[in-house]
Amino acid sequence: MSKLELIALDGPSGAGKSTTARRVAEALGWDYLDTGAMYRTVALAIQRAGLSLGDPKVAEVAGRALLEQRGTRNFLDGEDVSEAIRTPEITKFVSPMSADPAIRDVLVAQQRKLGQRGRWVVDGRDIGTVVFPDACCKVYLIATVEARASRRWRELEAKGSKLTLAEVQADLAQRDHQDSTRAVAPLRKADDAWELDNGHLNIHETVEQIVLHHRAHA
Ligand code: C5P
Repeated sequence: MSKLELIALDGPSGAGKSTTARRVAEALGWDYLDTGAMYRTVALAIQRAGLSLGDPKVAEVAGRALLEQRGTRNFLDGEDVSEAIRTPEITKFVSPMSADPAIRDVLVAQQRKLGQRGRWVVDGRDIGTVVFPDACCKVYLIATVEARASRRWRELEAKGSKLTLAEVQADLAQRDHQDSTRAVAPLRKADDAWELDNGHLNIHETVEQIVLHHRAHA
């Protein structure tokens, strides 16, 4: 099988995938796709439609929603929803929602259509296992839940959040559990992915390691 020129970056919540993926893409001159933002945007569309999970209409809403990523901003039907998709409510709702196979079918098809030309860095949970199993480079980014929680807590605190470190850690642990135990496309390391523990690396070191790994394996 010929390999697709694409970096699949998977891993648990709060491992720093989005920032890392964006900077790796910048370093290579490639495009960057944040698939977590796609799931979050669909979650927002479903909440706005007043639907609960399990309603057969959720897949229809997912299919109709126009999702766009322009730089670091995310749009739903032309509206900038970059902040609205990062609220604690959406963060809580998105993980159980993403276990719905009909929603995953809609989003995976869109991701494949975008990524098939290559030269993308794509971050998510199932990119190396399901969406682009033929990606030339797969990275599984991890760190302990404590390291991820304290990083995420500091980011949230800087934005004025009142959440405690324990609450942030509990949320990450719950999302890890939901994402890794779902029946369809669970979070897991692809057999041919390179595991990088960035618990003791800063963002520059993490990006550098991935770029070097990619160059060695391209
Ligand atoms: O990456 P982020 O934390 O923004 O993702 C939000 C949620 O979207 C994850 O907790 C997961 O449930 C879901 N997701 C997914 N598959 C992906 C990307 C995200 O199920 N490829």
